[in-house]
Amino acid sequence: MSASARIPHLVLTGLLLSPLAMAQADEDRPIEHILEPRAITDQIHYFFGSLENRTETNLGMNNNVGFVITDKGVVLIDSGPSHHVAQRIEQAVAEVTDQPITHVINLGSQDHRWLGNEYFLSQGAEILALERTAATQAEFARQHLDRLTDTLGDAAMAGTEPRPAPSPIAGDRHDFELGGVRFEMVHAGDAHFPGDILLHLPDHHVVFTGDVVYTERMLGIHPWSNPVEQLKAFETMASWAPEVVVPGHGEATDLATAQRDTGDYLATLVREVREGLENWETLDEVVARLADLPEFQHLRHYDDWHRMNVNRTYLFMEANF
Ligand SMILES: [Zn+2]
Repeated sequence: MSASARIPHLVLTGLLLSPLAMAQADEDRPIEHILEPRAITDQIHYFFGSLENRTETNLGMNNNVGFVITDKGVVLIDSGPSHHVAQRIEQAVAEVTDQPITHVINLGSQDHRWLGNEYFLSQGAEILALERTAATQAEFARQHLDRLTDTLGDAAMAGTEPRPAPSPIAGDRHDFELGGVRFEMVHAGDAHFPGDILLHLPDHHVVFTGDVVYTERMLGIHPWSNPVEQLKAFETMASWAPEVVVPGHGEATDLATAQRDTGDYLATLVREVREGLENWETLDEVVARLADLPEFQHLRHYDDWHRMNVNRTYLFMEANF
């Protein structure tokens, strides 16, 4: 391993402070721009997804997708939202390395994390997903494909076939090594969707969090999300003390930023809602009490999501605790 591979924060500091990167993040960047790989180390790269919703400009690539180059092949981290984007991801990876994509890890079950699986399977790659992730993929496949097709149009989604991992892995964890790089796939709790996982690269002090962590933009809690376990998963991730956190959404960053934008937010929701339930506060009372949290108003989409998140956390915790 080269010296630079061991010091990812040097690369990251440049990314974090770049005014150009900040200006670019303020608009819905086109897919060509999203697919310009960003280096975290000389082996680890990612595509910085749009912070906006799914649009014809970003082709549904409003999430981060990563890749790790080894001597034995490239490990792709999530497969993108469609057959078409998967193909373009493959081309973008080929700009950086001659190694083929041999493995594709699925960190979750939301459309843009796995609808490209079929393309990579057809190219001979192996899909690595836990059983619990693949089960949620199968459950939501039709709904996600239909909604994405409504948003992007038939042409953008042509050829896309939902293919959950053909041989998913039992249990809560899968560790493997490829070309001298260790990979740890860890389910530390359900999060945005049941079966979301974290990917830890312990030799490089880098973690790809999938939808456990959002930075720059407000995370979303859906009726099927589990904010209590998501907080536990966040704490597990933090206990690894990574030097670089690649969130599911938001630019690669440090643990402190992930803590501020996701860890502290989830901790506040869970703590305050629990207190409300213990004091027999109604849903409306809790939503009114937490309606404005100035420490999180810097997050994009705060106005669209925050009150809904309080509402859903209340309903979830009322039913489950
Ligand atoms: Zn997501």
